[in-house]
Amino acid sequence: MSWPTWLPLRDELRALSPYGAPQVPAEAALNTNENPYAPSLALQGAITDAVAQVCASLNRYPDRDATQLRSALATYMNEGSGTTLGAQNIWAANGSNEIIQSIFLAFGSGAAIGFTPSYSMHPLIAKVAGTTWINGQRNSDFSFNLDLAVQEIATHKPILTFITTPNNPTGDAISISDIAALAIAVSAHGGLLIVDEAYAEFSSEKSALTLIDSHPHVLVIRTMSKAFAFAGARVGYLIGEPRVIDAMMLVRLPYHLSALTQAAALIALEYRAELLGNVATLISSRQGLISSLHNLGLSTRPSAANFILFTGFSAPAPQLWSQLLEKGVLIRDVGLSSYLRVTVGNEAENKAFLKALTELL
Ligand SMILES: *Cc1c(COP(=O)(O)O)cnc(C)c1O
Repeated sequence: MSWPTWLPLRDELRALSPYGAPQVPAEAALNTNENPYAPSLALQGAITDAVAQVCASLNRYPDRDATQLRSALATYMNEGSGTTLGAQNIWAANGSNEIIQSIFLAFGSGAAIGFTPSYSMHPLIAKVAGTTWINGQRNSDFSFNLDLAVQEIATHKPILTFITTPNNPTGDAISISDIAALAIAVSAHGGLLIVDEAYAEFSSEKSALTLIDSHPHVLVIRTMSKAFAFAGARVGYLIGEPRVIDAMMLVRLPYHLSALTQAAALIALEYRAELLGNVATLISSRQGLISSLHNLGLSTRPSAANFILFTGFSAPAPQLWSQLLEKGVLIRDVGLSSYLRVTVGNEAENKAFLKALTELL
């Protein structure tokens, strides 16, 4: 993008492009790893009631520290991981992307590293925050290479080391023993290990939450956008040692999380049994979709998430992507040549995807 000379845009931003997953209408929207299951009527009603109550006091600022929501999130984390976290271990914000931004604002004084291909927002937010980003490597089949990662950490001594598990866009999870080894590697030079667990609920791998007690420099990021089918509400959260959370309070904007958001998120958490039931359905659909792709002669990367990275088609990826879109199926070209990523949808969407793909192969 070229910028007018009169605009005093910061130099390091001039070469960047905005995050831009296409938002176009499609019969099957399988491109941003959203949860295909809309909130049930019961959940919609409960959120509406809670929001109506908040409306009576919208002249007042919200609870700046979102204490009730952070307690509820701690309870939810403890249920899944057997931890004993409290509100003092949790920070909540408008999506995990705001959490990532706050991490850079608070701690981004040295370099940051991630192991690509991985979540494209980590380097983008690093650049916006003025932090040097280092692209660490994975194996050529995209699997995580612990020895290589430890080597790169020792060489570059990054303040922030990012891993995403399950990884987006590849889908594979990093084992808890590898994460523990990374935690030790980054502690050697006083860095932080940031574990982005946006898809944790879709994975059976043990969460890095269990490391925080023994490794206070481990920060875990979660979101309600995927498993909780709550992308439109914008709620992400950080789990860490209480001093990490104290640092978040230095960089957050006052009253950043609206009273409406806090109220709605509390209700969604109350409905977690229902919402996590849909996650179980998606996990079983993922396995079905993987088998169907194999039956079409395609190959897939292992997935512990709600999406699948596949290859083995002969057309260039951008061409197959647009041919699918012409048939009403929107998936994701993640910029890896000869690979495309598809989000697991509902039954009708998965069917539409497989039908269109079969016609095109
Ligand atoms: C989808 C996703 C997020 C979620 O971002 P939100 O701002 O919470 O919607 C974070 N990290 C990764 C790796 C993701 O894929």
